[in-house]
Amino acid sequence: MNNYNGLWTIHPYDNFSKALLPRVIVIGAGIAGLVAARILKDSGFPVIVLEARNRLGGRIWTDNSLGFPSDLGATWIHGIKDNPLTKWCEKSGFQYIVWPKRPPIFYERKKIIGSFNQLLLELGKYSFPSGLNAVGTVIKLRGRHVIGLNGDIPLYKIFEQLKNNNHMPEHLKRFIYWCECITEAIEGGPLTKISLCEWNPLEYYQKSAILPIGMEVFITNAAKGLDIKLNRIVKAISYGSEGVCVETNHEIFTGDIALVTVPLGVLKRNSIKFSPSLPSRKIKAIENIGYGDGFVLNKIIARFPKRFWAKNGDRMGWLPDKEENRGKFSFWIDHDPINGEPVIGGYASSDWAVKAEKEKTDYELCEVSVEILNEMFGPECPQPLGFVVSRWFTDPFSCGSYSYGSLKSSGHDRRALFEPVAKKIYFAGEACHTRDYGTVHGALETGEAAAIKIHEDHCGCKKKLHQLPWH
Ligand SMILES: Cc1cc2nc3c(=O)[nH]c(=O)nc-3n(C[C@H](O)[C@H](O)[C@H](O)COP(=O)(O)OP(=O)(O)OC[C@H]3O[C@@H](n4cnc5c(N)ncnc54)[C@H](O)[C@@H]3O)c2cc1C
Repeated sequence: MNNYNGLWTIHPYDNFSKALLPRVIVIGAGIAGLVAARILKDSGFPVIVLEARNRLGGRIWTDNSLGFPSDLGATWIHGIKDNPLTKWCEKSGFQYIVWPKRPPIFYERKKIIGSFNQLLLELGKYSFPSGLNAVGTVIKLRGRHVIGLNGDIPLYKIFEQLKNNNHMPEHLKRFIYWCECITEAIEGGPLTKISLCEWNPLEYYQKSAILPIGMEVFITNAAKGLDIKLNRIVKAISYGSEGVCVETNHEIFTGDIALVTVPLGVLKRNSIKFSPSLPSRKIKAIENIGYGDGFVLNKIIARFPKRFWAKNGDRMGWLPDKEENRGKFSFWIDHDPINGEPVIGGYASSDWAVKAEKEKTDYELCEVSVEILNEMFGPECPQPLGFVVSRWFTDPFSCGSYSYGSLKSSGHDRRALFEPVAKKIYFAGEACHTRDYGTVHGALETGEAAAIKIHEDHCGCKKKLHQLPWH
């Protein structure tokens, strides 16, 4: 195991006079902002990072209040093969474990109803020919999309086709509701707005991994040596030949370049006023790419006096009783696959989660989640000793969970979102990635790309050393 502690340089540091390099103001201390800031700073740029919250990490948030690292935002390294995060772990000696090992298993009153694969097979038998029609529609429309023809539809239409069967047993109808819920959770938007052509169901089968010490390790590692000002809510950015001027709730910062890495939801709300206003192409991209839209993914992580769920439970599911309850903590993961600590994490999603986040207290959310655990493993599961919940929708610095491929958006929009304005205002963050949007590694890659772009635009040096922990 190597311990990677080098400088994150992209050009030979000594080639430039520090005095000539532009001063960069990075807005947002999530993974994209910190990676960009660290590369630029280690390459000699004067850099300052402004963060609205009183913590680093953004949608990476490892909470330790349960005496156990609980990730309330990103948890998994999605797709471990050729992933910069796994390379970063390997170079720096951070342990990761391939997880989950099995498909989800569904429980009701302590009994196993079946595994995901078993229910899928059963659904296949019962939904003939509607299931075949649904698969046919997916293949046909995605094929048309690949060759540049129109014909996109929202994803819910596929589920409508699948449900179009009067003879389907109740548990399989409920399994379809669960599939709807997990599709929305993975994609990050409502089925009525997710584009079929942007959807790639095969990515659900890629191998993933988790970090027993929590995702925060990437944040603390990237933040080393940076000048970061917390509790600085950026409200306005003006730019021109003189440079940039960034107004916060406290003071005004001036520099030569600003790099904006706030979530797309924050840009959609116009929480930051740009002067002059952003080009129409950029504004259109901000409007077109999907984000929030009545959907959120939230978590509860709870510690119990003892484990009452299956040993090595991996992922566990509750089949929703009604379609509108599909996001009501219907998906659970065993949070300590290594030591067997009695910690379990439940997911709330879809419009159910938005309503619950707005209307329920933390304690009420916990009560609902325990009701569901009772449905699965009860009737009398113990009360948790402690719990933590996320509220990503009403949080003004996330305004939702992550971007999704909407019917209106395409790769052009994501490229337009990344594009710098007048070589003064740069952009990065998960929503700028054309393929791996909605992920940590996608956000990281946009941070790296923004640092390289700033470097090319302002130093003219094409040579890249790539002394980065994931290269
Ligand atoms: C519940 C949930 C589960 C997820 N699970 C996974 C997973 O398992 N695997 C995975 O790969 N990805 C997952 N993701 C997605 C992943 O967390 C994000 O894609 C990634 O962390 C985004 O990084 P970012 O730097 O683009 O944005 P962020 O992390 O959101 O960083 C942006 C920063 O900007 C700050 N900011 C906002 N407004 C202002 C302002 N006005 N002034 C100053 N600062 C501001 C924010 O506070 C934040 O720190 C999950 C996300 C959520 C919400």
